[in-house]
Amino acid sequence: MTEKDYYKILDVNKNASKEEIKKAYKKLAKKYHPDLNKDDPDAETKFKEINEAAAVLGDDQKRQQYDQFGPESFKHQGSGAGGFSGFDFSDFGFDQFDFGDIFDTFFGGGGQRRSRSSHHRKRGNDLLTELEITLEEAAFGTTKKINIRKKDTCPDCEGKGGTNITTCDECDGSGRITEAQRTPFGIFQTTRTCRTCGGNGQTFKNICDTCSGAGIVNKEKKISVDIPEGVEDGSRLRLGGEGEAGYRAGGSGDLFVVVHVKPHEIFERQENNTYLEIPISFIQAVFGDEIDVPTLKGKATIKIPASTQTNTVFKMRGKGIPYLHSYGAGDQLVKVIVQTPEKLSKKQKELLKKFADESGEDVKPQKNLFKKIFM
Ligand SMILES: [Zn+2]
Ligand SMILES: [Zn+2]
Repeated sequence: MTEKDYYKILDVNKNASKEEIKKAYKKLAKKYHPDLNKDDPDAETKFKEINEAAAVLGDDQKRQQYDQFGPESFKHQGSGAGGFSGFDFSDFGFDQFDFGDIFDTFFGGGGQRRSRSSHHRKRGNDLLTELEITLEEAAFGTTKKINIRKKDTCPDCEGKGGTNITTCDECDGSGRITEAQRTPFGIFQTTRTCRTCGGNGQTFKNICDTCSGAGIVNKEKKISVDIPEGVEDGSRLRLGGEGEAGYRAGGSGDLFVVVHVKPHEIFERQENNTYLEIPISFIQAVFGDEIDVPTLKGKATIKIPASTQTNTVFKMRGKGIPYLHSYGAGDQLVKVIVQTPEKLSKKQKELLKKFADESGEDVKPQKNLFKKIFM
């Protein structure tokens, strides 16, 4: 079997616009309609071909598929392209039909109708807000209350838009109407949104005064935000369903909260570790000591061994920031800064000179002079 060229069948070129395809289809469909060609046994075959071609080229998605993969790509879809094989034309008269309408209905014109039904349910918008927290709150989690001004579900009608609600008679509550439509190619089953209830499946006798039937009111709402432990600066938390209410109970959007962590007075954070510097005296550095160190969770002690040099970093395992969504925590890294003593008493100076003599070091008072000049 040779591949069908739908463009040739409709006698249009490959770049033809939808309007051109529609025009070509109308012309050819009239020309080859079986009712008008009772003596021509080939007319019906030709007519089917035209419809098949129009069904594909009249639909943007199908046309793209056809351009890319050819007619073979429609084989898996059951009854041929667009389902045009095997229709019964016998009891259709030609006069009753406007081919333009048929084209619109079945070959992609249906989208317009959908967008016109403005009273249909609609999901609410997502919202974005920002929240500032401390490093401690980021580390161990907290619950914050925030005020959001948003479109919220109407409390008087529960978002439905009215009261005295009954199941829609027109569609039996399904919100959709299925109709059989007679066309020259057979009976089509089409489904459309129920006009009586706008697709909600419900109708109401009284429209809600509070929200004028929209199911939505503007409201300031206090929302609790759970901050998980270990959250990072710039993290985005999603609160499902806390965004704006949807039109006529169409479902709420989500609320996104961007978390900003304030810089801390003493701790610096890098991923899950905290960093800080602690001053120690040169005596502590020489003889060693046990010193108190602040951590995010309060005071802790570290042992400074004898002969510790300045800028030595001590690691306090697990004293950093807990991992988000997992066990354990980062470390706290403490850098000790050995302080040079200032304002020494006469006696202290004498003792240090003795100390210098003992180490064979020459104490030159000019060093102080240098200091005065350059500092
Ligand atoms: Zn209401
Ligand atoms: Zn209905």
